[in-house]
Amino acid sequence: MLSRQFKATAMELISVLEQKQSTGGRTKVLLETVPVHKLADIFVASFEISFEEQLSMLDSVDAKVRLSKATELVDRHLQSIRVAEKITQKVEGQLSKSQKEFLLRQQMKAIKEELGDNDDEEDDLAALERKMQSAGMPQNTWKLAIREFRRLKKMQPQQPGYSSSRAYLELLSDLPWQKASKEHELYLRAAQERLDNDHYGLVKVKQRIIEYLAVRKLKPDARGPVLCFVGPPGVGKTSLASSIAAALDRKFVRISLGGVKDEADIRGHRRTYIGSMPGRLIDGLKKVAVCNPVMLLDEIDKTGSDVRGDPASALLEVLDPEQNKTFNDHYLNVPFDLSKVIFVATANRAQPIPPPLLDRMEVIELPGYTPEEKLKIAMRHLIPRVLDQHGLSSEFLQIPKAMVQLVIQRYTREAGVRSLERNLAALARAAAVRVAEQEQVVPLSKGVEGLSTPLLENRLVDSAEVEMEVIPMGVNNRDISNTFRITSPLVVDETMVEKVLGPPKFDGRETAERVVTPGICVGLVWTTFGGEVQFVEASTMVGKGELHLTGQLGDVIKESAQIALTWVRARAADLKLTSAEGINLLEGRDIHIHFPAGAIPKDGPSAGVTLVTALVSLFSKRKVRSDTAMTGEMTLRGLVLPVGGIKDKILAAHRYGIKRVILPEKNLKDLVEVPPSVLANLEILLAKRMEDVLEQAFDSGCPWRQNSKL
Ligand code: ADP
Repeated sequence: MLSRQFKATAMELISVLEQKQSTGGRTKVLLETVPVHKLADIFVASFEISFEEQLSMLDSVDAKVRLSKATELVDRHLQSIRVAEKITQKVEGQLSKSQKEFLLRQQMKAIKEELGDNDDEEDDLAALERKMQSAGMPQNTWKLAIREFRRLKKMQPQQPGYSSSRAYLELLSDLPWQKASKEHELYLRAAQERLDNDHYGLVKVKQRIIEYLAVRKLKPDARGPVLCFVGPPGVGKTSLASSIAAALDRKFVRISLGGVKDEADIRGHRRTYIGSMPGRLIDGLKKVAVCNPVMLLDEIDKTGSDVRGDPASALLEVLDPEQNKTFNDHYLNVPFDLSKVIFVATANRAQPIPPPLLDRMEVIELPGYTPEEKLKIAMRHLIPRVLDQHGLSSEFLQIPKAMVQLVIQRYTREAGVRSLERNLAALARAAAVRVAEQEQVVPLSKGVEGLSTPLLENRLVDSAEVEMEVIPMGVNNRDISNTFRITSPLVVDETMVEKVLGPPKFDGRETAERVVTPGICVGLVWTTFGGEVQFVEASTMVGKGELHLTGQLGDVIKESAQIALTWVRARAADLKLTSAEGINLLEGRDIHIHFPAGAIPKDGPSAGVTLVTALVSLFSKRKVRSDTAMTGEMTLRGLVLPVGGIKDKILAAHRYGIKRVILPEKNLKDLVEVPPSVLANLEILLAKRMEDVLEQAFDSGCPWRQNSKL
């Protein structure tokens, strides 16, 4: 019985051991052949047991006792093995997931190697390292980069932080730490030619640019001021800046600052933020990939500040030659040298630029163009460019001078030439359609008439005649278009202009149509779009003597309205607005003054004289002359003070077809800036006091003046 039990336990132990190592076979044979009492001794001898246990084993002379003791020992051994197994199983259960992943990854690597797939992580990292080495980073930056690189190497690609760390290193190695465009000897004459070729007119501006370039030539590291082109849209600010880049043989990068309110847009976010990015400057430099480009800070007047910091202060650092050697981008976190960059800025107006920033820049004003200038720009620059952009040439399309003039007068009313360019492009597109349609005529002539549509036929009728040649088989489309010989190019005429651009948007009669009742007056103001004509409408109704103002007005303009009303009320009797002195002009009525184009915010003092004239017209029930526009600030006592932007304002009046302009006398000196061709078409009237303005503004002068004490 005992021996059977021993054998069973021993057998179990052996089979457990057998799973672990393959020595079990021999012991099994022993179990079968050796007598049981000897077997017990053999087994026990191979166990590691304590000295006392060994003694007690030897002590038991009786075979039965020895066997039972041996059984117990074997059983204990078996139990301990089982417990150990259980523990490892548990631990293994926990580990297996990551182990499995590791295993799979190793396998994947092996498979990739087998397939010869080279875009493997390690190769990638090696490439990154090579790129980092050739980036030419300064010592400190390199140390930081290599530390980050070591960290990256230890990471698994799936680990959080891997991709951000990698993107950071990519940026560090992409940045032009030392790479620069080669500096060529600068030939001023060539630069002048370049500017002249790209831009018509702008003599003073070009002169200033040449001076700037000359100083750079004599002293390349001179810390000259930053040029800032100020003017309405479409007057060529951006294209002048790119001409500067071309003249210097540098790359050109434009950084748009319009609407930037967050300092981080300029300086970047710290890398601790998820999705953080470098600022626009560093991003721009990465794109041009040289450290000495011409960088255009576009619309520098449109940056604002809010709770997220002040972009202007960051820009201050950028433009300061003392500080920009070590420009600090939060994302980059190492200084970057911006001192080799040539900065040029543009703005629509100088006034919103924070003074410290303005202090670092030299403002060059580009006022709007006269219609004659626009015509020349269109003929010399815009039309050839537009034709080229549309794959046309003067062989296909001609836009005569008269038609350009028509577009300038009837379809655009702007200081610059941007919408003129857009309209010319529309004409070119329409012409391109015709030319392209003529291509389709080819299969038609080969007897596939069924394909033609009435529309196509219609167009064909009024398009220029086409002389077709035999086209060899197998030529591609471009060859087909080259085989066209248009006997006469398409000449743009008035009908085509109207067909493509629609009915005229503007005509010279707008002011006459709008100034129809007393209380309406034409003012000249200055906006981001250059000079503008601004109508002022005053109306009166039953009320309690209140003044209502509408049209998105700023504080300054509201105060001007108060001043105007006070002045008119104080002189109501002298101006014969009331029958006798001491009568309240506002008795039982409210006044409402509106500035149309209500969606556009307006501010500034130069509407003063216009407001007074509108009120006088309203109360005296006499119409203001519709061919007259005015500008000027007025004091409470009726003195007319000079205002800014005279050239732009006069150009605007000219665009609107106004014939007479009333200006403050002190602005006489500004008239030299106005092109003579414009002045020749205008009557300029100077005013010292408000009465002078009124005298000129009404048809029959100011008849009430003679017998007044004014
Ligand atoms: P801005 O930056 O002042 O808004 P752009 O530089 O974009 O204006 O100019 C608009 C377009 O008008 C450009 O295609 C530019 O080449 C053209 N342009 C403006 N002024 C002139 C000029 N004096 N001579 C030739 N082209 C001009």
